Amino acid sequence: MPHLTIAVIGAGFSGTLMALHLLRRCSPGTQVILLERNGQFGRGQAYATGNPNHLLNVPAARMSAFHDRPEDFLHWLQRQPDGEALAAQGFVPRRLFGAYVRALLHEEVMRPATECRLELLRGDVLGLAKSETGLTLALDGERWLAADLAVLAIGNFPPEAPPGLPRRFLESPLYRPDPWAPEAFAGLPPAAPVLLIGTGLTMVDGVVSLLDQGHRGPIHALSRRGLLPRRHAPAPPQPRPATPPLPPSLLGLARSLRAEARRAEAEGGDWRPVVDRLRPFTQDVWQSLSAEDKARFLRHLRPWWDVHRHRMAGSVADRVEAARASGQLRLHTGRIRGVEEMEGVAELCFARRGDGALQSLRAARVVNCAGPGADYDRIEHPLVRGLLQAGLARPDPLRLGLDVTANCALRDRQGGISRRLFAIGPVTKGAFWEMTAVPDIRRQCEVVAEHLAGIMKAMSA
Ligand SMILES: Cc1cc2nc3c(=O)[nH]c(=O)nc-3n(C[C@H](O)[C@H](O)[C@H](O)COP(=O)(O)OP(=O)(O)OC[C@H]3O[C@@H](n4cnc5c(N)ncnc54)[C@H](O)[C@@H]3O)c2cc1C
Repeated sequence: MPHLTIAVIGAGFSGTLMALHLLRRCSPGTQVILLERNGQFGRGQAYATGNPNHLLNVPAARMSAFHDRPEDFLHWLQRQPDGEALAAQGFVPRRLFGAYVRALLHEEVMRPATECRLELLRGDVLGLAKSETGLTLALDGERWLAADLAVLAIGNFPPEAPPGLPRRFLESPLYRPDPWAPEAFAGLPPAAPVLLIGTGLTMVDGVVSLLDQGHRGPIHALSRRGLLPRRHAPAPPQPRPATPPLPPSLLGLARSLRAEARRAEAEGGDWRPVVDRLRPFTQDVWQSLSAEDKARFLRHLRPWWDVHRHRMAGSVADRVEAARASGQLRLHTGRIRGVEEMEGVAELCFARRGDGALQSLRAARVVNCAGPGADYDRIEHPLVRGLLQAGLARPDPLRLGLDVTANCALRDRQGGISRRLFAIGPVTKGAFWEMTAVPDIRRQCEVVAEHLAGIMKAMSA
């Protein structure tokens, strides 16, 4: 019978994969409990979308759940109805990736060696406290669960409220705080003007949703810089030859990247491989930057990095460009100064970037598409609030997630390293920066599972 328990909180991609790796690495005496508040195991927010036009922004060939079996997703896809045609598309509907992760979980559940060692438990973990023997998790306010270790895989939170919007408007029925909620775009008259706050990939999802529901009215998108994600190259760009070592300072790095991108283009090539080739090194680069350089990057360069690094699939970019060309989608740049509500319409005022001139936009719906919220001091979920208030966790200094060590152990309020609490996935962006996409998370899950298996072994000795 199992006698040690690891609770994995959240069954999106990170939590599900972590559970799979733990089961393969821990001794038969370890039980893994995978907890998910919405009961949809193996899906997570990004892949829960029912819209077939919400596509992966990473080619299917790079979306395997396992770094040592890079074609696993592709092969799974090829076995599905119309799989060959889908695989040939490169960028497939995100919901298919969710189905793949669920299939992996199902396979694991059916494995005889997993019997009794994996429990899938529906429940919202509302609290987590130290107990005399380990940890106690509070589920849905009425159930309790004991565990020896816990891994937070709680993923992405809805965007933070945009600066400049008054509190009263955040409660208005005209405002939708969560762009991924089913009601974000529901019930909107097709000719009504809509305002999307943000111009990144979340806004792109919003535009696709609106076009798919036959929206004919104007779609405004507003952000401080108005930068749109770039499109992926139509064919995988040819890799360029090896380049010199990466400079350890932000300025040096930015200069070197720009120079390389210019050279690539001057030689008739493409800037994308310059960005993509950095990928295996981004965590090293991030960790070698000084605290000042990290803060400088977030203040000044992040918007440029994001649009070059997280790109749109070509077919999505075509739709966005067509909507812009027809005048339906209009991009605005500036800072929000206020909003008034009049007869079911919001009139939002913003100071235009550059000259500061005040402009106004009218919209029947304002949807916050600013991208996932990461400042844990502003996240209201009781689990997060409770961990911070009890001093068991602290936000990372850059407000990108929770403060964790290189092995993903949570740091408490004083910086002490937890022996029992860990976090994976986007929660750990402060320590690793690139911990958003599947290729990064899959590696992290493997490494952390190995580490936790070692801890469990020591505990059971
Ligand atoms: C819209 C969108 C599109 C994306 N597209 C791509 C893409 O194409 N390719 C790519 O590589 N990456 C993409 N990403 C990045 C994505 O973040 C990662 O790929 C990955 O899915 C993150 O998984 P996760 O499990 O850490 O988080 P999530 O998917 O957010 O899952 C967290 C889970 O934890 C549950 N949970 C949270 N708190 C609790 C609690 N207290 N108790 C119980 N359960 C809880 C939630 O219900 C949720 O199911 C996208 C992200 C978003 C937001």
